[in-house]
Amino acid sequence: MTAAKQDVVSRRRSGAGPYLVVGNWKMNGDRRRSAILAAELAGGWPEIDPAVTLVACPPSVYLQSVGSLLRGSGVALGAQDLCEQEKPGAFTGEVHGAMLKDLGCRYVVVGHSERRRLYGDDDERVAHKFATALACGLTPILCIGETADERDAGVTEAVLKRQLHAIIARCGARAFADAVLAYEPVWAIGTGRSAAPEQAQAVHAFLRGELRTANAKLADCAPILYGGSVKSDNAHALFSCADVDGGLIGGASLKAADFLAIADAARHR
Ligand code: PEP
Repeated sequence: MTAAKQDVVSRRRSGAGPYLVVGNWKMNGDRRRSAILAAELAGGWPEIDPAVTLVACPPSVYLQSVGSLLRGSGVALGAQDLCEQEKPGAFTGEVHGAMLKDLGCRYVVVGHSERRRLYGDDDERVAHKFATALACGLTPILCIGETADERDAGVTEAVLKRQLHAIIARCGARAFADAVLAYEPVWAIGTGRSAAPEQAQAVHAFLRGELRTANAKLADCAPILYGGSVKSDNAHALFSCADVDGGLIGGASLKAADFLAIADAARHR
């Protein structure tokens, strides 16, 4: 093993699983373009890669068609959101976690900053969604992050702590054995202004410390992703940080070549 490789290996925590690279397609594309993207991802990524797990989260109306194109490939299916209600029923326009599971979803994003900011998903509802996702056998990808004003005011850690502990209070820290945490600074989402690797690492280490305080055993295994303007040219530096276990990718997940290049950076970090 080369010294460089040894260096990379020694930076991974014992117990850390494969890197996770998740594409959030948001409300983009149409039936044709989502099928092309799904087919390109399925054909461009090995069926089994022990080092990196890829996930695609298309709009809910395309979950079924994208899911059938991804079936048997190395790319897992995820949803962008779910209804918090434990039981299906009279909730017009909502999608229950059991329905997502039925369509073959393994993951679901909860608490994305766009849901928090535009659709009123507060900490309590996000915790409720997180709990429902787990109850439905889905792996929640919990997004937390501070705004630019909060960072400037020096309250980043307090905000993240509040968002994280809302989940721990409802589901227990143990829930992170079956969940993913994604640090997504709001000021970096869709702005082209990614956090510097040192900034991301500092926050990820803080979050892992919070998890460790709550449950010493699982903290090293819990995947913590970074999201916010990840591109093929900054992915390698971000993914090489000791506490960064992959990425949640928005804009750059809409082109297969860009997304696969980011996934490749996770493989070769
Ligand atoms: C996101 O919306 O979760 C995101 C990370 O977007 P982008 O990569 O476009 O900043």
